[in-house]
Amino acid sequence: MQTYTAPLRDMRFVLHELHDSTSLTHLTGLEEITPDLVNSILEEAAKFICSTLLPLNASGDAEGCHYENGAVRTPKGFKEAYKTFREGGWGALNADPAYGGQGLPASLGKLVDEMVSGSNLSFGLYPGLSHGAYLALKSHGSDALKNLYLPKLVDGSWAGTMCLTEAHCGTDLGLLRTRAVPQADGSFKLSGSKIFISAGEHDLTENIIHLVLARLPDAPAGVTGISLFVVPKFLPNADGTIGMRNGVTCVGIEHKLGIKASATCQINFDAATGWLVGEPHKGMRAMFVMMNSERLSVGIQGLGVGEAAYQSAAAYARERLQGRSLAGAQRPDKSADPIIVHPDVRRMLMTMRAYNEGCRALGVWVANALDRMDRAKDSAEREAAADFVALLTPVVKALFTDLGFESTNLALQIHGGHGYIVEHGVEQLLRDVRIAMIYEGTNGVQALDLVGRKLPANMGRSLRRFFHPIAQFIHAHERDPQIGPLVQSFAESFGALQLATALVVQAGGIDPEEAGAAATDYLRMFGLVALGFMWVRMAKVAADAATGAAQDAAFYRAKRATATFYIQRILPQTGALLHAIQAGKASMTALEEAAF
Ligand SMILES: Cc1cc2nc3c(=O)[nH]c(=O)nc-3n(C[C@H](O)[C@H](O)[C@H](O)COP(=O)(O)OP(=O)(O)OC[C@H]3O[C@@H](n4cnc5c(N)ncnc54)[C@H](O)[C@@H]3O)c2cc1C
Repeated sequence: MQTYTAPLRDMRFVLHELHDSTSLTHLTGLEEITPDLVNSILEEAAKFICSTLLPLNASGDAEGCHYENGAVRTPKGFKEAYKTFREGGWGALNADPAYGGQGLPASLGKLVDEMVSGSNLSFGLYPGLSHGAYLALKSHGSDALKNLYLPKLVDGSWAGTMCLTEAHCGTDLGLLRTRAVPQADGSFKLSGSKIFISAGEHDLTENIIHLVLARLPDAPAGVTGISLFVVPKFLPNADGTIGMRNGVTCVGIEHKLGIKASATCQINFDAATGWLVGEPHKGMRAMFVMMNSERLSVGIQGLGVGEAAYQSAAAYARERLQGRSLAGAQRPDKSADPIIVHPDVRRMLMTMRAYNEGCRALGVWVANALDRMDRAKDSAEREAAADFVALLTPVVKALFTDLGFESTNLALQIHGGHGYIVEHGVEQLLRDVRIAMIYEGTNGVQALDLVGRKLPANMGRSLRRFFHPIAQFIHAHERDPQIGPLVQSFAESFGALQLATALVVQAGGIDPEEAGAAATDYLRMFGLVALGFMWVRMAKVAADAATGAAQDAAFYRAKRATATFYIQRILPQTGALLHAIQAGKASMTALEEAAF
């Protein structure tokens, strides 16, 4: 059975002690937010998620979704769980109160997402896509579309989807063929076939609102000729009640490696009625609002599953008796010591722990920037936050999902052969989280986004905004009696990242293939340094707390030990990554195509 308890203590640490949640109260709509309020919502969320969603994870995986005559039935219990989720207002946490939302901080929403993903990743996809659709419509839809659709998406009675992919068109959206023909009444008729559409059809809501990328008849070729449309499964009446069935059909669902309780659908549009969202041919701009939000959410999925993997592995490592400690028997009363005594098992546990806590800290930092970007009264604060979010989005998506998958792999290894069989639930975590490295733009494509778009954006302004606080922290703390040695080691990796950045920008400017060859190593390096920054900062907070009147000294001691592990045992990988980047593309591209 899968083990999962919401990591509330660590969430409180990150929210309040590391990132000072009270520093957001100058933002519009967050004036009344207090740590107590945030903590009590997190506790309620944890209760609901662990009692309702967690028990459905293994059964949902075993049963999967059912397809019959265009209808999809979710596994037993999902419909009831969704109803409770919806009635609890859990999908409305971050939505605008003008549309029935609760207007709570983004960090709170992301931490609830983390718990949902850790308990039941498949379930989380249904409300997750609705929130993305809400964001795209809210930022680019007309008032009429917003008033009709947003309250329903926010209260969860209608669900959303994101329809980009076609059989011949995945990463390269410029190839898409779905057509939209203008009608006299201002609507459009859409025809085409989309594949791999998450939550494309299901039995959880009374209507499903598809956000569809398509081409107008006069569209230029490539990505500049794509427009965005809202296409409901049932055409709503003006008063918001459900009207006629639209020309949207689910013609099948995929049988796949993981997230089996999430319906991955093939959707046909046969002269389906839709309405334009935003301007003609500017669909990618509107869709990117949804895709960027989804990319951060997918990163958080990696973290949530990584945390579940860690907890299962730690519980197993304490119970499983095999071999004796190299330092002499620790449990002479037993037939063998628990495997947690072995340094190699500790290596794996500490790695997972360091990844998860580091990612949680970075995730909340980015979430706070989301709030600053949307709610700050000062335009300079909004701009700085938007730069930061844009830079970190591909890093969060790719790094968190890579590390989440690594954690499930390590957890499976700790379980030995018992991890490979179904009983303990870790093989499901590994299968489930694997998709997160692929959808919402593969991790390779995230790396290209980082080096190709985000680094050069605004003449490097975003990067400077990220590097500056790191340089300041190093300067302020490299001689700190408590964390100085950690900060000095961190500074070496930061220096390596600066070197790699100069190299990638310079070599990539002359030969784009050099940037392409460096991209994945560079993103990993960037991510490891970003986590390193979180770890030295957490070490500082923990050191200060531990010397004060700390009530839970063990928590802070563990924080400092994990910081030391991360800086000493994981962060040095940046040195090897720098060497790989310095080697350039030559060995990667040396072979003729025929040699493969
Ligand atoms: C379970 C599941 C759920 C999904 N949900 C949705 C959804 O809700 N909505 C939706 O629209 N889509 C969805 N997708 C589709 C998903 O987003 C795509 O599969 C993904 O974007 C990759 O596209 P592709 O599979 O066609 O791979 P391809 O684009 O064919 O890529 C194959 C490989 O080539 C690499 N590659 C491609 N182009 C480049 C390049 N320019 N430079 C370097 N490397 C490159 C990729 O990184 C990858 O490794 C889902 C897919 C799955 C499996």
